[in-house]
Amino acid sequence: MQTRFSDAQLSEPAVAHSEKILRSCVHCGFCTATCPTYVLLGDELDSPRGRIYLIKDMLERNAMPTKNVVKHIDRCLSCLSCMTTCPSGVNYMHLVDHARAYIEKNYKRSVFDRVFRGILSRLLPRARVFQWALKAAALTRPLHGILPKKLKTMAAAAPRPLPKADIFDARRVWPAQGARRMRVILLAGCVQQSLAPQINAATIRLLTRHGVEVVVAQGDGCCGALQHHLGKEQPALAAARRNIDAWLNEHEEAAVDAIVVNASGCGTMLKDYDHLFKDDPQYRQRAKQIAALARDVTEVLDTLDISFNGASEPMTVAYHSACSMQHGQSIRRTPKDLLERAGFTVVEPKEAHLCCGSAGAYSFLQPDIAATLRERKAGHLKRLHPDIVATGNIGCLMHLSPALATPIVHTVELLDWASGGPDPQPSGNSVLRDWFAGALAPP
Ligand code: SF4
Ligand code: SF4
Repeated sequence: MQTRFSDAQLSEPAVAHSEKILRSCVHCGFCTATCPTYVLLGDELDSPRGRIYLIKDMLERNAMPTKNVVKHIDRCLSCLSCMTTCPSGVNYMHLVDHARAYIEKNYKRSVFDRVFRGILSRLLPRARVFQWALKAAALTRPLHGILPKKLKTMAAAAPRPLPKADIFDARRVWPAQGARRMRVILLAGCVQQSLAPQINAATIRLLTRHGVEVVVAQGDGCCGALQHHLGKEQPALAAARRNIDAWLNEHEEAAVDAIVVNASGCGTMLKDYDHLFKDDPQYRQRAKQIAALARDVTEVLDTLDISFNGASEPMTVAYHSACSMQHGQSIRRTPKDLLERAGFTVVEPKEAHLCCGSAGAYSFLQPDIAATLRERKAGHLKRLHPDIVATGNIGCLMHLSPALATPIVHTVELLDWASGGPDPQPSGNSVLRDWFAGALAPP
């Protein structure tokens, strides 16, 4: 694709990087067929190629973003399905991230949108504050009928009853059982600690039982992805710097083999820290070190010789691969292989490459598209008649849960269960939890 940037524009590193990306697009349009918003809405401007044109025009003209451009960029899920499909290796992720930051700086949203996005960016990344917000949301339940749609979607997402959270906001160490084979830092996460604390618990049990020492570092926190996807560059960078400092302090104390992430959305972000700081001489090297250490939990488990007892009766697991897992980190086989080694029959839904509509804060910001994608994904999952659904990302888990009659759990919960851990605890509501407890025998 030809571009027309001035030398002055190209002297800005972010613009120069985006210009390279734009030039790599040959506008073949292969990406349109696998883009969820194009598949749903059928509008070229809601396809990757259409958005690339809009971004190119906006950046070249150094223009105030128009309402129309913002509408189509906001509708993008950042699912990165287009990157998997693109034969030319166009880095759409970095391009749309730049566009979002540009829009955030140069476009004035409505008062409601500014307040709502401000709440999301301040609330979701803070584990303790979010925990209090969940309790408050439970109290507002009788008012849900009169809330604006976006607020109602957010309030309705709170699980009932609220699980007992175990917030890791100080350094914690879980020693390896038996001879120590590895030492890892665990990213404890932000919303996951409140919504599904059983995921960290299963991860820690599974790793320590197989000779891995697990540490939660002093001073780390949200990976910054939520703010990054809202275009809020400075808070996202601040979150990333805080993590880099906390993890390298821990690493210097005693070397770690990996930084383990059990939410694939956060894993994609960590693995991109080196790009985030590529123009920052102070953090460039440090960020690179962190990106090189970041691993999805299944990547680490794959290197361990896990002793599975096997499920006591044949169980069919429908595996939902989160976009950040399959497109963001190109992890496709490992979680399924682990589940099969654990004795489960693994099946995958039709259109496995399409997003379920969760996409970080997207389900709150674009509730209609998110709900349509959820129904589509849930329909494909139901047609498999699985005993249970497994996924590797808290966002998908919470988003899909209300649309499924089958329990949905994190992959590590099943792996933990099949190797001697307790029953998984499906998130979302107690009916599913009861169903699981009654319908399945322990391994
Ligand atoms: S598939 Fe790649 S090269 Fe083709 S239009 Fe899409 S982004 Fe551009
Ligand atoms: S990231 Fe997903 S929604 Fe956005 S353009 Fe690419 S395929 Fe479409």
